[in-house]
Amino acid sequence: MKKLSFIFISLALSFLVTAQTPIDEQQLQQEAARIHRAVLTVDTHCDTPMRLSRGDWDIGVYHDPKDHRSGKIDLPRMQQGGLDAEFFAVFIGQRELTAEGYQRARELTEEIFTAIHGMCDQYHDMIELATMPEDAYWLKKAGKLACFIGIENGYPIGEDLSYIEKYYNMGARYITLCHTRNNQICDSSTDPDGPVHHGLSDFGKQVVREMNRLGMIVDVSHISDEAFYDVLTKSEAPVIASHSNSRAICDNPRNLSDDMIIKLAENGGVLQMCLFSGYVLPSTANPEREAAFADLWAKYGDWSAIKSDSIRAIVREEYYQIQEKFPEKKATVKDLVDHIDHVVNLVGVEYVGIGTDFDGGGGLADCNDVSEMGNITLELVRRGYSEDDIRKIWGGNFMRVFQRVIKISKKFGN
Ligand SMILES: [Zn+2]
Repeated sequence: MKKLSFIFISLALSFLVTAQTPIDEQQLQQEAARIHRAVLTVDTHCDTPMRLSRGDWDIGVYHDPKDHRSGKIDLPRMQQGGLDAEFFAVFIGQRELTAEGYQRARELTEEIFTAIHGMCDQYHDMIELATMPEDAYWLKKAGKLACFIGIENGYPIGEDLSYIEKYYNMGARYITLCHTRNNQICDSSTDPDGPVHHGLSDFGKQVVREMNRLGMIVDVSHISDEAFYDVLTKSEAPVIASHSNSRAICDNPRNLSDDMIIKLAENGGVLQMCLFSGYVLPSTANPEREAAFADLWAKYGDWSAIKSDSIRAIVREEYYQIQEKFPEKKATVKDLVDHIDHVVNLVGVEYVGIGTDFDGGGGLADCNDVSEMGNITLELVRRGYSEDDIRKIWGGNFMRVFQRVIKISKKFGN
């Protein structure tokens, strides 16, 4: 009897130990890696094309992630990080809202399109231009990367709607209506001068309709709250925020309030979580770093003010030196997944995705370039997200919106 109870106690103890032992870390990592490879992974925003036309940088070559000069995305690192589809942004810095300003922007826009098409030609064994949702799926099956194109800032459209179709025909599938300043389409969430249109301009309303007609996705990242609500009223199709987070978790005008997220979900759209540290976690003060950057911009003006390539190269070098001397304390993948949890609790797992903003300021302490994208999946698995949830977050939700936008465009009789 004595011996039996001893056996019973030791069995009970061993059960307790097993129950308290965390799931084997190695198994968890293997499961996360398996899921990461199995699902289609889509990033809806990067600014890497700004580097493409530079003679001193080659996207087809592996660059050391630890070197600031490497940028966040190249094709070998995309393969390494298991990222299947990238939206390469045609980003246009904004100048005057005049005929001359628009003309100059259109020339730059065409140069960037040419650089993206050139990448697909040069490295056609690794990446292909993708323009429809199904392209990403068959390219993944074929072992190739998908290059989608988005336009960040509707500035180059000017006041001529026909440019939307022109850019659509060049491969663009979304337009972020504005950038950090108000433009002819709508107000920005960050214009220091405050709103001018109080939402979409009359021309902006026509832009949304033309994008609906063509089957182009309207991107509400960067636009003001008033413009956001205007877009939801005007758009017949669901919309995306290609790179924004939750304002309830990190209070920043670039992020969406809970009410906006609820309205976005009602619209059937999706919020693509951004890896820009300051939109993930409120930045901690770093006076030495801020002073060094203030000196740099005082010396040269901001990027858009620098006209010469040689001066631009000097500024870039000084910029990297400041980054190295006064490193920024960055948010982590855990902080990012707190945003995902928040949106999932608020509206469900169908309305959230990933839009890194790599090479436009995006990068977290433990997901600082495209080779580390698997860390997001690992954290999702750790928090109990299923393979099905992760498939939705990594691309399924975005593709649902993309398909719906195309379907609604058919109503216009194209
Ligand atoms: Zn942006």
